[in-house]
Amino acid sequence: MKSSLNNSEKPNIIFILLDACRRDRLGCYGYGKPTSPNIDKLAKESVVFENAFSVGNSTNPCLTSIFSGQHILTHGMIQHVGTEQKEIDRLNKSGIKLLPEILKENGYNTMAFDWLGRWQKRGYDYYDGLGEHEFKIGLFGVKLPYETADGSVKKFKKKVMQNNGKPFFAFLHFWDTHSPYSPPSKFIRKFGKYDYPSINSSETPLEWATEWIHLLTKNSKEVFARYDGSINFADFQIGEIIKFLKKKEIYDNTIIIVTADHGENLIDHHIHFSHYALYDTTVRIPFIMKIPNINSTRIRSFFQEIDFLPTLLGYIGIKHPKVEGKFFDLENDNKNEENRKELYFVANDAAMVAFRDERYKYIYEPIAGIEEIYDLKNDPLENRNIVGRDKRVDSKLRDKLGGVIMKTKKVKEMVYGKNKLVYDKLHYSLMSKRISFLEMMLKNKEKEIEDMYDSKAYKLINAYRKFRGKLGL
Ligand SMILES: [Zn+2]
Repeated sequence: MKSSLNNSEKPNIIFILLDACRRDRLGCYGYGKPTSPNIDKLAKESVVFENAFSVGNSTNPCLTSIFSGQHILTHGMIQHVGTEQKEIDRLNKSGIKLLPEILKENGYNTMAFDWLGRWQKRGYDYYDGLGEHEFKIGLFGVKLPYETADGSVKKFKKKVMQNNGKPFFAFLHFWDTHSPYSPPSKFIRKFGKYDYPSINSSETPLEWATEWIHLLTKNSKEVFARYDGSINFADFQIGEIIKFLKKKEIYDNTIIIVTADHGENLIDHHIHFSHYALYDTTVRIPFIMKIPNINSTRIRSFFQEIDFLPTLLGYIGIKHPKVEGKFFDLENDNKNEENRKELYFVANDAAMVAFRDERYKYIYEPIAGIEEIYDLKNDPLENRNIVGRDKRVDSKLRDKLGGVIMKTKKVKEMVYGKNKLVYDKLHYSLMSKRISFLEMMLKNKEKEIEDMYDSKAYKLINAYRKFRGKLGL
């Protein structure tokens, strides 16, 4: 159906990213609570990827992979925070094209409602960046700028109404699902009690962070309700987008993608409300694509964020440079089986790397030298580390990741230079977020922490403590 808002043959594309949204908290992926009625309804008309994975655990690296079709070690943007200009310059000179640039060259109006900025701004006619948004206090007491999803949707509608007949590409980045999970309280109340003080009521960020930590160690259920409420708030906004598209008669000719850049640990693996580490809680993501004239189906083959760009562009008939991602056939999943039997992941700052196939996950943390192997067939929640149980399995998995570890070293040298001290200092400073969190907890709640954390976590804490001593921090 053609409308004056898009009189081209090409469909509009709306890419909605729910930051840190876990796949298993959505109804269409089996969650029992009603967090996502609008997404579930959309999923019924869409291609739903059962086995979609991120490439890492932090926003900037993952999003760069989604929009470039290249893995983290190839595009080289390994850090979420602290990215230096030289890295951005290197990416800009690399010839790697980002999805909005390709779409713009092919006649699309491009718009983004996000605040990451810098290289993530490339290719947009309109980019709603930093500047006018309210700063809110997030986890660890860090102030973060937010536009809430309702604000983004309002701006999105306005921009679409100004569209001049060309197809449009809109990127909506909803941060509401990211900690500290603070949607309007009525959304939280649907899922549990709400008597936690407002995030702005604390005197200082530290005071707020301390209260938050107290809450999550004492009453995780309340934080779960906040997380579910956040997803429900984002879902409500997706419902608003769909209503608007239908009213303007452009729904039928619009591709809609709903996904997450990475998942989230709630209390899994002793990691509280953060996307640290590379367990499936963090790397398994929802991925839903509604494409005009493609029947709804479930794709079971492994699909990774890098596969999105070639798949999308393949379906709308736009050529792109060669990328690591593969084209997926959305009408015959048998054709995809050989595409991606093995996956690898790179954590923020390349602080950890991991390999996964259908049977095993191997995670390697190079500084403390920690290895973890999980037998996913018998232990899908990755609770029992089996390193050392079968030497053949260990060595096969080490071989699988060997090349990635070498490449990681090279990329880190490129990013930080060969100055080991700077390298370690940066690594430490990024990782220390988790450590200071643990340390703060240790200080206040020694006994509880002892019960809560296993020897693996202590080993990591101690390794970083040693580094801190070495660096004089
Ligand atoms: Zn993120």
